[in-house]
Amino acid sequence: TKRQGVTICKGHKNYELMLNLQLGIRHSVGRPAPTKSLKLKPTAFDAEQKLWTKFPPEGSKHTPPHQSCEFKWKDYCPLVFRTLRKLFNVDTADYMLSICGNDALRELSSPGKSGSFFYLTNDDKYMIKTMKKSEVKVLKRMLPAYFEHVKSFENTLVTKFFGLHCVKLSGPIQKKVRFVIMGNLLCTEVPIHRRFDLKGSSHGRITDKPESEIDANTTLKDLDLKFIFRLQKDWFQEFCSQVNKDCDFLEQERIMDYSLLVGISFQDTEATEGKDEPDCIRTSSISSTDVDLNPTRWASVRLGINMPARVEFTVRSHETQLVGEPTGEFCNVILFFGIIDILQDYDISKKLEHAYKSFQYDSTSISAVDPRLYSKRFRDFIFRVFADDS
Ligand code: ATP
Ligand code: CA
Ligand code: CA
Repeated sequence: TKRQGVTICKGHKNYELMLNLQLGIRHSVGRPAPTKSLKLKPTAFDAEQKLWTKFPPEGSKHTPPHQSCEFKWKDYCPLVFRTLRKLFNVDTADYMLSICGNDALRELSSPGKSGSFFYLTNDDKYMIKTMKKSEVKVLKRMLPAYFEHVKSFENTLVTKFFGLHCVKLSGPIQKKVRFVIMGNLLCTEVPIHRRFDLKGSSHGRITDKPESEIDANTTLKDLDLKFIFRLQKDWFQEFCSQVNKDCDFLEQERIMDYSLLVGISFQDTEATEGKDEPDCIRTSSISSTDVDLNPTRWASVRLGINMPARVEFTVRSHETQLVGEPTGEFCNVILFFGIIDILQDYDISKKLEHAYKSFQYDSTSISAVDPRLYSKRFRDFIFRVFADDS
């Protein structure tokens, strides 16, 4: 399959930024600082660590010489993120190798509307997203609660954050680039054939691509969804319970605009030479015995990771209907999913967007709504498109 994104080579407009990022990460992550426990003092969350490290090209006492332009570097709450990486079982050496190894990063062609840039490590494990100042503020604010949440629930679906950093370019315009490093939800050995970004709102929630251009790298939305995801009973129960806990957490933090990203790998596919999308073999069997697939795979199944499931095809009776009627036709799949884009709070700009759009459209169909309503609508939708397979 085609790889996502463009490799950042010498001459690419963000080549130097990539080098800066790699130098910075090597500097901060590589520093020996063993974390023995998963307990943190409140001061670790102190956002006011105004420590800028200068990286002159000729090198300094603490920084190596380098080929890039001069820049300054800042880590936000390094001890917290170090502890988070430990909690998420990220090995420091592997982490550095993924991000700072010889293989360059790849830049994705702006998958979101917000203007953020996305980078993938060459091994696909990590995703780097540039952030607005307001998003950094939100992450810093919710970090203590986030830490407690991910520590309490090992099956949490919320994005795993591994680091928060800032590069300040020297020169007349001291441009700041802030970025967060997170896990790539769709890093897998099995091919992902389709991906959906689901919010539970309907206004504008459809791809603008013609059918012939839709492929594995297209982010499809709510109104493009033609399935119900059927999970095995135990998994479905765990799923519901975790979605509720995660949404409660996001609601308490006054977050909105997040989505459930779902990657689908179709099993039992027909010969697909030269074709990007395999035709899935639909069955009408009601029995779920064939869902189990290969037991050796169960060892690697976690909630939202490598999960055997079935999709049931649906049909909409009208275009704006969010969830279509089930048809009784099934296909075996492997699913990957998680809750992404969790750093937008219901700030003045979102309140204005809500007020403005509700003149024109049904106010419950637009994405920008109060966090309580957002969470309710999100869950209602998710609990309709996910179901138990029995
Ligand atoms: P907007 O605010 O307009 O939705 P954004 O710039 O905040 O856009 P996101 O919603 O965070 O961007 O992400 C855009 C797309 O990038 C997602 O729909 C998804 O396809 C991909 N993506 C984001 N985060 C991850 C992740 N952790 N793992 C895999 N893919 C991701
Ligand atoms: Ca989004
Ligand atoms: Ca966003």
